[in-house]
Amino acid sequence: MLPEVLEAMLPWLRDGHANPSGAYASARRARQAIDDARGRVAEWIGAEPDEIIFTSGGTESVNTALHSMDRLVGAGTAVVSAIEHSAVLRGAEDLSRPVKYAPVRPDGRLDLDKFAALLPGAAMISVMAANNETGVIQPLHEVCTMARERGLPVHSDGVQLAGKAEIKVRQLGVDFLSLSAHKFHGPKGVGALHVRRGIRFFPLLKGGSQENGRRGGTENVAGIVGMGAAAAAMRRRAQDHTALQVMRDTFESKLLAELPGVAVNGDPVHRLPNTSHLAFDGCEAVELIQLLDQAGLECSAGSACMAGKIRPSHVQLAMGLDGARGRSSLRFSFSLLNTPAEAFNAAEIVIQAATRLREAKRRGTDPGVAPPCGLAFS
Ligand code: PLP
Repeated sequence: MLPEVLEAMLPWLRDGHANPSGAYASARRARQAIDDARGRVAEWIGAEPDEIIFTSGGTESVNTALHSMDRLVGAGTAVVSAIEHSAVLRGAEDLSRPVKYAPVRPDGRLDLDKFAALLPGAAMISVMAANNETGVIQPLHEVCTMARERGLPVHSDGVQLAGKAEIKVRQLGVDFLSLSAHKFHGPKGVGALHVRRGIRFFPLLKGGSQENGRRGGTENVAGIVGMGAAAAAMRRRAQDHTALQVMRDTFESKLLAELPGVAVNGDPVHRLPNTSHLAFDGCEAVELIQLLDQAGLECSAGSACMAGKIRPSHVQLAMGLDGARGRSSLRFSFSLLNTPAEAFNAAEIVIQAATRLREAKRRGTDPGVAPPCGLAFS
């Protein structure tokens, strides 16, 4: 979290005992704090405050959007991209309709021709704004244009894009957009769902009349205040996307220049400025990640270890990265709280770890890592 986010939250954690639905003064203050946060989130993404519903995070926002669209539309399939986060993939399994999966190209971008071919017979669409594993930004504007021509509602999982590139709901043309505060320097366990004004909404969590009757449950006031503060910070610091890219590029260019056998996975242009998804020739990602962890560098691998076998992620499979390249791929991401010096040092640590691993493989000696364990992206 940004320091100012924590500062904004602390009074609500310490003294904010009032239930925002109460009829007393402290309850009114809590309600006001929620509405202020709603205004900040709305302003940041170019929406109206009444289009924002606070939730418990990205997963709930996604599930709510899918549920609401499912109730809204008539017969027809749901079309989702094959590289969606599990919140969408698992959420879609529960819909009342069949689901079709739109493939991506080897560069990780949605294949728009194949997507278009799935639209006859479709009733609802969900395509993420940017992928959480590769950072590849999806052609969402084109998706929304094609959907509008057929009158189909579109949900987008904007969890990864928000805070790393401009995100304006009107320009994109989405009907529903999911956000999660912890992906843009806010707290965990709080998110928002943007629901375009005028579209009929069906709540997933039914209970009290909170959030205008659209999401039952006593509000997480401190979390919502934190999300509002993070959204305001992102709006103010929109130009810092360049700072993220400078760090990522410092890291990547040092690696590419000094370590042989490194390649960038996915579209190198249409990707989040803070994300680097790299393949390390001759290294097993699950081993490399452990050497990096020992050196204090925390990153993610797309391959998960199941029952002792390394399996590629569904994103890797969709991109055709299912062989050695997939198994040797890691994701690094930078935040506004990192520094260019850290990016430089991180590259140095990766060079040393990958060299040690390759050397151990060549000699047939123990690289000093524990047997691989379950690793996953979020
Ligand atoms: N969607 C994407 C693309 C994500 O990366 C994540 C995050 O972890 C989620 C959804 C789920 O968000 P949350 O962890 O806030 O439920």
